[in-house]
Formats: sequence, structure tokens, C-alpha cells
Amino acid sequence: MKSQRHGKYLLQHKVTQLVSRKGRIQEVHYQANGTYSKIEVKPNDYVVSTLPLRLTTKLLGDALPNELIESADEIVALNDLLLVFLHVEQSSLLDESWVFVPDPKIIFHRLSEQESFDPEMIKKGSIVCCEIMSGPSRPLAEKTDEELCASAVKGLERMGYSDFKLLDQHVIRLPKSYPVFRIGFEVVLEELIQTLDQFENFRSIGRQGAFNYIGTLDAMDIGYGFSAWLINGDSQQWQKERERTNHYPVLD
Ligand SMILES: Cc1cc2nc3c(=O)[nH]c(=O)nc-3n(C[C@H](O)[C@H](O)[C@H](O)COP(=O)(O)OP(=O)(O)OC[C@H]3O[C@@H](n4cnc5c(N)ncnc54)[C@H](O)[C@@H]3O)c2cc1C
Repeated sequence: MKSQRHGKYLLQHKVTQLVSRKGRIQEVHYQANGTYSKIEVKPNDYVVSTLPLRLTTKLLGDALPNELIESADEIVALNDLLLVFLHVEQSSLLDESWVFVPDPKIIFHRLSEQESFDPEMIKKGSIVCCEIMSGPSRPLAEKTDEELCASAVKGLERMGYSDFKLLDQHVIRLPKSYPVFRIGFEVVLEELIQTLDQFENFRSIGRQGAFNYIGTLDAMDIGYGFSAWLINGDSQQWQKERERTNHYPVLD
């Protein structure tokens, strides 16, 4: 028999506070449609979160020692990603699907072209995506969209792609999206995660939730693993589950 669907998705709800008492999350406060409200966490409820880890430490307020919140701020470092999309007249610019560009003189570090993945994604010409990383040592996010596009075009020319006609350009900015693993971060991260795992009815998982440099398939694997553990597991098995999901290869 087909199982019944349960549950409800609350979209556009911003979590503003996680209230804990006696080692359990008791309330999830949120803001939606301009008003504040809260969800009472019942004794049999479990809170699994993919909220960004640094945010979680702040949402928990006094429940965590100040030093831990401060060290989370230090080790959970994230670079901004700036995506420059160039619409060119040619039906294809690159021979490859994507190209990594380890040349510091070129502003982007990766190129990809949508038609390589699905030619039907674009009706006329081709769209080339130039990915630009921005962080404290290379603060490119402060540049205007026009400056970023001009530098991306220069980068393409430097690579030998000079014979193309630009039809349009667009920039999408993804602040704090790429993890930066600083030397020694593992010890502090583990302490932070272990402290959060002390909450009886709360787990912080996923790319942002555990500062884990993963892809979508890994995120799904973690989700399935969490569900299986919640149904069958005990706290010792949870440590094994953390260990199992800590070492996915970084693909890009
Ligand atoms: C730029 C970029 C490119 C990527 N490219 C690929 C790729 O090509 N292939 C691949 O496999 N993976 C890719 N990934 C990785 C993939 O996106 C992630 O692994 C996956 O989305 C992780 O899922 P998650 O649920 O752990 O975290 P997320 O999807 O990041 O979920 C965290 C959620 O928390 C929400 N949130 C934040 N603050 C609040 C708040 N206060 N209240 C409520 N919600 C909040 C965010 O809106 C977000 O939806 C990419 C990631 C990035 C950043």
C-alpha cells in the first residue's frame, strides 16, 4: 500500500532563535511575513538542522560557551563566489564542458558552458559561466558587475578566446559559499560539533551545518544516514555516523 505523505514545508521562514533547556531544544523561533512566531518542540520531536554552523552557534545564544562561539567565527571561514555569465553569439565557445584555470593573472578559476550539459538550455548563442572566488586575500566582491564582466572577458582573451561577440552579461553573487579550511581547523570543528551533539534532540548536519566540503550527492547520503540513525540508532552509533560522513572526497 502506498504510504501516506506526512509533514509540511514552511518556506520563507527565517529561523531567529533556538531555545534550549535541560540539554534539549525546546523552541524554534522564526520570522515569516513580517511577524515573529515559534514552534514548540514536543518531547518526541527531533530537530535536524542544515543551517550554517556559525549562525547556529549564535541562534543558540547562552547555551554555548562564548569561547566556542568565538572559535566558530574563526575557523568557519567561507569565501564568496561571484558568477559572471557571458552570453556570446557563437553556439559554442569551449571544446570542454568545464575548464579549471589555475592562473593568478586570470580573474576566474573555472569556466563552464551550459550547452555542454544540455544544448536546449539556450535558444541563441551560448552562455559561458566564469567563476570568480573572493576572500580577504583577494577581495574581488567589492568590484562592480561591469568591472567583473570586463575582467572575465579579458581572462578569456588571455586564454586565447578572443574571437567572440558578447550579446549580454549578468553577475550573480553568492556570499559565504565556499569553505576555506585553515590549518588546524579540524580540532576546533570537532569540539564544536561534539558540543552540539550533546543536545539530546538536535543534530546539525550537511555542508553548511557541519562545515563539510561536500556535493549534493553527499548531502543526500548524509540525510539518508541521519534518517536511518534516527529510526534505529543510539548515541554511540551516531559517532560512527559522524565519522562515516566526515571524509567525502572534495571534487571541485
Ligand atoms: C556555489 C556552489 C556550487 C555548488 N556546485 C555543486 C555542484 O556542481 N555539484 C554538487 O554536487 N554540489 C554542488 N554544490 C554543493 C551543494 O550545493 C551542497 O552540497 C548542498 O546544497 C548542501 O545541502 P545542505 O542542505 O547541506 O546545505 P544548503 O543547501 O546550503 O542548505 C542550508 C539552508 O539554510 C538556509 N538558511 C540559512 N539561514 C537560514 C535561516 N536563518 N533560517 C532558515 N533557513 C536558513 C539557506 O537558505 C539554505 O537553504 C555547490 C555549492 C555551492 C555553494
